[in-house]
Amino acid sequence: MNNHTYEAIVIGAGMSGSWVAKELCDHGVKTLLLDRGPNVKHLQDYPTGSTYPWDFPHRGAVDFEDVEANPIVSKCYAYKEGATHFFVKDDVQPYIQEKPFDWIKGYQVGGKSLMWARQTQRWSQYDFNGPDQENFSVSWPISYKDIAPWYSHVEKFVGISGNKDGLDTLPDGEFLPPMELTVVEKYLQQTVRENYDDRHVIYGRCAHITEPQEIHRQQGRAKCQHRTICERGCPFGGYFSANSSTIPWAERSGNLTLRPDSVVQSIIYDEQTNKAKGVRVIDAITKESVDYFADVVFLNAGAINSNAILLNSTSQRFPNGLGNDNGLLGKYFGFHNYRARITATCNQFLDKYIEGKSPTSAYMPRFVNVHEHDQDFKRGYGVAIYTTRYRNTEESGMGQELIDELMKDKNFGPWQVSAMMMGETIPKATNTIQLDSEKVDQYGMPLVKFNVSYDDNDEMMMEHFYSSFEDIYAKAGFENVKRIDTGQAPGLDIHEMGGVRMGKDPETSLLNGNNQMHLCENVYVSDGACMTSTSTQNPSLTYMALAARAANHYVEDRKKEKES
Ligand SMILES: Cc1cc2nc3c(=O)[nH]c(=O)nc-3n(C[C@H](O)[C@H](O)[C@H](O)COP(=O)(O)OP(=O)(O)OC[C@H]3O[C@@H](n4cnc5c(N)ncnc54)[C@H](O)[C@@H]3O)c2cc1C
Ligand code: SF4
Repeated sequence: MNNHTYEAIVIGAGMSGSWVAKELCDHGVKTLLLDRGPNVKHLQDYPTGSTYPWDFPHRGAVDFEDVEANPIVSKCYAYKEGATHFFVKDDVQPYIQEKPFDWIKGYQVGGKSLMWARQTQRWSQYDFNGPDQENFSVSWPISYKDIAPWYSHVEKFVGISGNKDGLDTLPDGEFLPPMELTVVEKYLQQTVRENYDDRHVIYGRCAHITEPQEIHRQQGRAKCQHRTICERGCPFGGYFSANSSTIPWAERSGNLTLRPDSVVQSIIYDEQTNKAKGVRVIDAITKESVDYFADVVFLNAGAINSNAILLNSTSQRFPNGLGNDNGLLGKYFGFHNYRARITATCNQFLDKYIEGKSPTSAYMPRFVNVHEHDQDFKRGYGVAIYTTRYRNTEESGMGQELIDELMKDKNFGPWQVSAMMMGETIPKATNTIQLDSEKVDQYGMPLVKFNVSYDDNDEMMMEHFYSSFEDIYAKAGFENVKRIDTGQAPGLDIHEMGGVRMGKDPETSLLNGNNQMHLCENVYVSDGACMTSTSTQNPSLTYMALAARAANHYVEDRKKEKES
């Protein structure tokens, strides 16, 4: 038992868990960081990090056999030939879809922080007030003021590029210089400014280092080179991943023990002390069961697995899952609605092209249902705006003749414009994840069962988005406007949230304002599972800030206890 005892255990070495581990280790807490996947070491374990397109057998595309064998994960846009090794294949962890749900997973040290798209926006007070203003879910137990310092703390370390736009709907952060907009995005920015008071086109805020600061140099990270092959792992550390940043930092403290290949099955509850005393792990290689013990447990296995681990943590005191007296565990599960797109062409600026590549896009923060709530639907949406030009490739000729042909500007078509809605969904009691009572996976863990769907609110919001952008495009003089509904299932947004929501009242929520379980305070759930509502912003910056805040809450409590 002595060999297996630490002060803190963190379950999941991904985006949020690595932040908890870093903060705890910085404060001298001996921490065991467990992950179900293998270790991925920065630089050494990016086998395709610098591979040229022509050196891939399929020039970057995934071959048909792979797509056939993996109908779910291959739907993800980042599942490319150079990055498939970071994604969990469909047969590794089967699950039950009572309603369609595309579960995209990254099981390795670093989790999905290796493959993410790095878009990072803060929530505003309008987001935390959402449930109260529009009467859904329950009140958040925290406000923007509580999390703002933690956003700053995380942003400085991670490195976020962006522009200070002074918008109350999207608070400014600690920014490095923004990535450039294209000429069409700048034109759209101007058109929107001239025609609307409530809408703004801004530089997409993203976790890329555009001007390295001392704190980034200390992490061994350098300036982003705009190669846009980030999902393979970046040898420059140009974008934030747990592998390039928080985990090596925590390791350098001497306080971290990292144990990959450790599938956590449950949290062990001590009926005598009424606290958690550790975790039960299945070794992924030997399949042996091993217990680890600690004063405090942080759960950061990604929202779905965190729900599953809690549901599987049954005891005499908690027969329905840890802390689940109110029966709400696994309910009010949330996601983002990414189904709606609207495309167009722009026939101006045909003498201009993009120099280099940009790993981000332009962004329009939420503008509907912010100050007034006069729509037929609740909440609103943010919009990612992409513009580019494609070649009308003329591939006749050989050698220099072909090169000359390809380099001719006349071979570029008009500008293509695409706007993607990122809609807030309303968490509902009927959107659930549960455990199957019979079927288990290769580690003996019950299969996860999804019952998650869109609703009328989502459809009405999509209609609002389409008509708003038809108006915006018309004012900009764009042509060939086309509405698209991808019809994709929930899950493909990869912004899974909720099921273990925060709240003020133990009757209606599972976590308090510090991410501690109301009924088992030495368990913190500090990943997306804690989210009370979903807002429109990409969520990971908020997860990281909440995780850092939760870890520091523990550190402060421990200090007070030692002093008393
Ligand atoms: C292609 C793609 C694009 C994305 N783009 C964005 C974006 O632009 N902006 C944004 O904000 N978010 C984005 N996301 C989502 C983002 O990656 C997640 O929100 C974030 O990684 C969640 O952090 P996490 O710590 O909860 O989970 P993860 O980072 O997934 O980490 C969870 C870890 O827990 C481990 N684990 C799971 N179960 C167990 C268990 N039973 N025992 C032990 N370990 C376990 C996993 O192996 C994993 O390492 C994107 C994701 C993908 C895949
Ligand atoms: S775009 Fe930047 S962060 Fe992404 S792989 Fe290239 S250098 Fe690295």
